[in-house]
Amino acid sequence: MRKSSIVKRITTWYALLMLVVIAVMILFVSIVSQTLVKQELRNDLMSSLQHVKENITVDRGYLDFDEVETFRNQTYLSIYDEYGNIYHGQIPRIFDIETPFIDKKMTEVTYSNEEKILYYDELIEIEGFGNFWLRGVIFYTSLQLSLQRTINLFSFALLIMLILITLGGYYLTKRALKPIDTLRLAANKIGGGKNLQLRLDVKNQQDELGRLSGTFNMMLDRLETAFQHEEQFSHDISHELKTPLAVIMLEVESLKAQTKDQNMIDSLNLIYEKAHQMQSLTSQLLLLARSNNSDIKLDLEVIDLKELIDTMLSSFEYAENSKNIKFEINIEDNTIIKADMNLCIRLLENLLGNSIKYGKDNGTTFIEAHQDTEAMYISISDNGIGIKEKHIDKIFNRLYQADNAKSNNGQSHGLGLAIVKWIVDLHDWEITVDSKYGIGTKFEITIPL
Ligand code: ADP
Repeated sequence: MRKSSIVKRITTWYALLMLVVIAVMILFVSIVSQTLVKQELRNDLMSSLQHVKENITVDRGYLDFDEVETFRNQTYLSIYDEYGNIYHGQIPRIFDIETPFIDKKMTEVTYSNEEKILYYDELIEIEGFGNFWLRGVIFYTSLQLSLQRTINLFSFALLIMLILITLGGYYLTKRALKPIDTLRLAANKIGGGKNLQLRLDVKNQQDELGRLSGTFNMMLDRLETAFQHEEQFSHDISHELKTPLAVIMLEVESLKAQTKDQNMIDSLNLIYEKAHQMQSLTSQLLLLARSNNSDIKLDLEVIDLKELIDTMLSSFEYAENSKNIKFEINIEDNTIIKADMNLCIRLLENLLGNSIKYGKDNGTTFIEAHQDTEAMYISISDNGIGIKEKHIDKIFNRLYQADNAKSNNGQSHGLGLAIVKWIVDLHDWEITVDSKYGIGTKFEITIPL
């Protein structure tokens, strides 16, 4: 399950906490206030009924209620015989006279017009006269009702507050965490652009984010140094190998000229071929070491594409390739591009070289260029072994080789396309690849006009 963002999680927890606090508060306030109001009414009711009990007298053999007040302390008071016939007193009009008596029970009734009463019944025995019901009915006063309404309103206000606090909390958390997002974007930029020279902006050294950025920058310093050492190492090694390899190739050429022994010539050819492979590998490595240097200046010049490709293909390497691959060029005369000549040659060499390496015997490589109003498109396609779909988005990564490269007799190193991509990026061009396994591959470079 995908985790939601920290902002959302903090806001949810915070809102839940507030909800619990507010619910407890509302519950507490309403229970306490209701208990207090009820208690007050109950006291009035009980003291009024006490008044009734104390003021019923017997005068010359008859019950005398003259001293009994029928309305006291906001309480309506009435006296009934044990069959429910009224003897004395009054009850409010809204009260149902059929209401059955229950001894010593306080009951609350709310009417549709929002009036609310409490009533209480008690059975007493008057010696010589039998049992009598006393009933006291008291109204919630408008003050007590408005207290209840205030509590309801207060609860509603608290709920609105909860919503506002949640929204405010979300906004504040988002604001507080925004620098982390900025940090993430900056880190992405460094990682995505593979530019280890960039550093995160440390605004305040003292706060948590400042310290985090500082630690991150320290880590980048160490990574950059490690990469620089590695680059320097491969650069130095490649450089050191250049001269001995050139000497080996020269010596092999001269030895070949001195012998007629076919076995010897075959061995010398093999040595030459391997030395040549090593030479191209060292020059790729040197170029790759250069590619890490972000301030490379392009030496742009006007290049006649068709002329350049014709010249390259007429060289021995392409004309006499071991798989007998034919080249078909479909480029109009005077097709001009603006590019760094050396890098452009390297780019074409790598793509043409791959079309031979991964081409089929007697296959064809097509080199085409066309343009529309927006861009010029140069494509190099072959009808070779193709690339499986799962490898396609990785082939421009350094040292990546798809499984079709294994059969290549040591000619594959996974550097060529990384260099092609670097050169394309340097020129602000674009490159795409379209390949079908077993059918062929097409690389297309887009040069915006
Ligand atoms: P290398 O060819 O030295 O392995 P590259 O960077 O030139 O390195 O190519 C990366 C991988 O892409 C190769 O290993 C190969 O599997 C695949 N590839 C490149 N070009 C082609 C092509 N024209 N046809 C088929 N596969 C290719």
